[in-house]
Amino acid sequence: MEKATVVVIGGGATGVGILRDLAMRGVDVMLVEKQDLVNGASSRYHGLLHSGGRYAVKDQEAARECIEENMILRKIGRSCVEASGGMFVRLDSDDPDYEQQWVQGCKDSGIEATPITLAKAFELEPLLSKHVVSAYLVPDAAIDGFRMSWQNVDSAKRYGGRVKTYTEVVGVIKENNEVHGIKIRDYFTGEEYEIGCDILVNAAGGWAGKVAELAELEVGVQPDKGTLIAFNQRITNHVVNRLHKSSDGDIFVPHGSITILGTTSMSVPSAEDTSTSREEVEHLLSIGEMTFENLRNYRMLRAFAGSRPLYMPPGGASGRGASRGFAIVDHEKQDGLKGMFTIVGGKFTTYRLMAERMADQVCAKLGNKEKCRTAEEPLVPEVSEEAKKAARKYFPAYGTDLAATRLGPERFARVTETLARDPEKRELLCECENVTRGEVEEMAKELSSFRINDIRRRTRLGMGTCQANFCALRSASVFAKVGRDEAARDSLGQMKEFLQGRWKGIRPVLLGRTIREMEMTRALYELSFNVNGGEKE
Ligand SMILES: Cc1cc2nc3c(=O)[nH]c(=O)nc-3n(C[C@H](O)[C@H](O)[C@H](O)COP(=O)(O)OP(=O)(O)OC[C@H]3O[C@@H](n4cnc5c(N)ncnc54)[C@H](O)[C@@H]3O)c2cc1C
Repeated sequence: MEKATVVVIGGGATGVGILRDLAMRGVDVMLVEKQDLVNGASSRYHGLLHSGGRYAVKDQEAARECIEENMILRKIGRSCVEASGGMFVRLDSDDPDYEQQWVQGCKDSGIEATPITLAKAFELEPLLSKHVVSAYLVPDAAIDGFRMSWQNVDSAKRYGGRVKTYTEVVGVIKENNEVHGIKIRDYFTGEEYEIGCDILVNAAGGWAGKVAELAELEVGVQPDKGTLIAFNQRITNHVVNRLHKSSDGDIFVPHGSITILGTTSMSVPSAEDTSTSREEVEHLLSIGEMTFENLRNYRMLRAFAGSRPLYMPPGGASGRGASRGFAIVDHEKQDGLKGMFTIVGGKFTTYRLMAERMADQVCAKLGNKEKCRTAEEPLVPEVSEEAKKAARKYFPAYGTDLAATRLGPERFARVTETLARDPEKRELLCECENVTRGEVEEMAKELSSFRINDIRRRTRLGMGTCQANFCALRSASVFAKVGRDEAARDSLGQMKEFLQGRWKGIRPVLLGRTIREMEMTRALYELSFNVNGGEKE
């Protein structure tokens, strides 16, 4: 039977953070994830690296954790963080008393909130509503959840950490109130087998309650769904937050070439619920346009949703009332089951701290005295300026820096070499995100690439302006040729699945120019490939 000293369940930010931390302390650790990595909340989120300002009034402990981790993640994950800065703006309709509490809260939590004049606010953010009456700058930033999580995994692997994707935990093996391993199911073959371990860490986010049930334990986790809208351009230069009691649709986060507006908050029975609706989109727009009056003039790319794993201690509040802090449950202490922990709650911004606290407890059980080093050591070494300079000859005009941050030094060197050797590999499969054939082929060969969507999460293929209009068919043919797995050969199936994923997010925002573009996509794929399977004449 395959074995690891520690098995971590769940490949979201929390799980990959624990994997890295334990691997760096020399622990034999394996992570299992039922889908691709970053399949849950850690990619279905706002992408805000919180300064803590959002929590400065309601939850100062969370606020302090955010500002401290914000500073650490900027340092260790430079290519994942866009240090755009943040602005809190109060509208004339918002409560002035709250502003005073917020200023004090930031001071008490150690968050630098600098008041600026309205003239300065409009100079920095010219599209702001004229109803803005006060503005402050804070150290908010944007953070790429996919990249940050993958870089944790790359770092963990350098220290011997192991990862199995598309591997669902379907049972916990225990004897005499002690955990001995897990039973898992392979997503593609349905095969079930066992992995032995001494310690099991349940980091399954919104599914943590379900995983606990496998061990006949109870953990109160309430999946809290939030819907977000991605706009096709940068509406703001800073992260713009509305300065009022936290509510729906009051944060705009600029990411690369897009802006994300969100979010809603709604208790749902299952974290699998990632549905969005036109009503939610309308709701978000109607609130968002109070801060940016011409919001409806911008083209929406898609809507998407994820579930916050809110920890519900007995008798606790739900929804926005629930704490954004995190909890670690030692099931030996709580339930008498030795060798199992659950970690749940928190935020993406605090994933590293959560991992540190979890790894401290695991190491204490193992008698491992190594200290946490995840706050000091960068996730990946940076690509050197010389390497980028040499690569510019082969990459598309704006593509070198993007590819360098996506790939990291080793893969970037390999792709550069491929493009230099074979000019055909310089072909752009995805124009919107500047992804070359060489880069897609490099990622297609990775052990974790089973579907085009897995490559999308690594390269951003299909995530830009045209939402896979052209790259779906191109990438399907490339993947069929170089993909490792049998599934890759089904190019039509792969292409349909990829397009269907895009369509899911586009459907709730089918308005104006988006309809025109979708009609073009539909014509292209239905007429050329008959993807909807109509009758042959
Ligand atoms: C709409 C929304 C907006 C947010 N905005 C922000 C923000 O701007 N900034 C911020 O800091 N935080 C934000 N958050 C919170 C943040 O996204 C989450 O707190 C964080 O991503 C949770 O990470 P996680 O690893 O605990 O859970 P997840 O990322 O959900 O990971 C859990 C993983 O476990 C896997 N899994 C489940 N069951 C099993 C099983 N049986 N076997 C194997 N694997 C399994 C799942 O597939 C999943 O990949 C937001 C959340 C939402 C929903």
